[in-house]
Amino acid sequence: MNFERIKEKLNILADAAKYDVSCSSSGSKRTNKNKGLGDSSGMGICHTYTEDGRCVSLLKILLTNHCIFDCAYCVTRKSHDIKRAAFKVQEVVDLTINFYRRNYIEGLFLSSGIFKNADYTMERLVAVAKKLREEENFNGYIHLKSIPGASDELMREAGLYADRLSVNIEIPSEKGLKLLAPDKKREDFIKPMQKVKNEIIQYKSEKKLIKSTPIYAPAGQSTQMIIGASGETDAEIMYTSAYFYKQFKMKRVYYSGYIPISYDERLPSIGTEVPMMRENRLYQTDWLLRFYGFDIRELLNKEHPNLETDIDPKLSWALRNLEHFPVDINKADRRMLARIPGIGMRSVHKIIQARRYRKLNWEHLKAIGISMNRAQYFLICDSATFETKDRTAAQLKSLIMGTSGSKWRGAYSNQLNLFGSNAPLTTS
Ligand code: SF4
Repeated sequence: MNFERIKEKLNILADAAKYDVSCSSSGSKRTNKNKGLGDSSGMGICHTYTEDGRCVSLLKILLTNHCIFDCAYCVTRKSHDIKRAAFKVQEVVDLTINFYRRNYIEGLFLSSGIFKNADYTMERLVAVAKKLREEENFNGYIHLKSIPGASDELMREAGLYADRLSVNIEIPSEKGLKLLAPDKKREDFIKPMQKVKNEIIQYKSEKKLIKSTPIYAPAGQSTQMIIGASGETDAEIMYTSAYFYKQFKMKRVYYSGYIPISYDERLPSIGTEVPMMRENRLYQTDWLLRFYGFDIRELLNKEHPNLETDIDPKLSWALRNLEHFPVDINKADRRMLARIPGIGMRSVHKIIQARRYRKLNWEHLKAIGISMNRAQYFLICDSATFETKDRTAAQLKSLIMGTSGSKWRGAYSNQLNLFGSNAPLTTS
């Protein structure tokens, strides 16, 4: 093995892979078998975060940064003048095993530019995973990026070796895709997603009959969208997400703010990065859809196409729907408790447990750990202190922002001053 050349390839292909954020390793339950290497159920440290906030280490590389396509937003596009490299299948296998043995990594995230065509590339990605599993007896985590347009047969094989599969939709709207990635068609993403979903269902039902049936892609599938490259509103982005979660049973949709990398009149200019807060708000909305029982139409719609950056989406919804409040903490159902700003699902659970034994008052709620600076305006409990009524949404927002540590507070207060909204507020 030529170590200098491998090192050079690693530099190039690890750097090119850093733009892909869809590599959380959560959800897999693969355990060590036959005294093999690795155990993806007990992941540890490094480059990526799981759903529950753990940081795990994956060797995150591209098989190659050669590509036949010319997607405007991508560093790897064929017209971009960069140093190119490609790993051989065996090189990726050896690197993974060597890094694993040295305790640098706990798994592999393998993506690729497209050499020749989709199947030619996908075959090589699958070959890496197959060798790791069958020749090296590697039981660590493997996330394979599926190549848009790859055949059903290769997609089926990929899920037998990988823990997670993902096909990146990249651009949330068809119009944006046409503009920035004219070589790609939306069906090229949708077809493999549908295939993965069907295989997961089929293997699961076969396993019920035949115990030895393998689990297909045990950590499911995910996708990534680039935000801010093609002008979609937050509503367009999140409706696409909601569709993917429902239609393809996605485990996760990732939102990656576009980083301007080139002078191209179709794209935002260099120096106009998507604010981190926009990504955060999209993730919060995603969370509300998946765990809090919100429907996307409640959070984003024609009248409200973009998320507010200065307050979180649940508070924003509550301020637009004050007729649902205050909620009686001692009587409300789980769904309504989860809608109170400042109360997370863990607190909802604790409230439901605690109120079996006593009526809850402010002191109890504080002890449960709810965020009082937001919650106090939206609930009633077994005490009258703090109880507030008949405030407008603007007044509530001002009160909450005045007591929060948000970095947007200063900007919001200035804005209110301009409209004279900072007049003393009445209390009831
Ligand atoms: S196909 Fe993928 S790697 Fe190739 S240019 Fe488009 S986004 Fe980049």
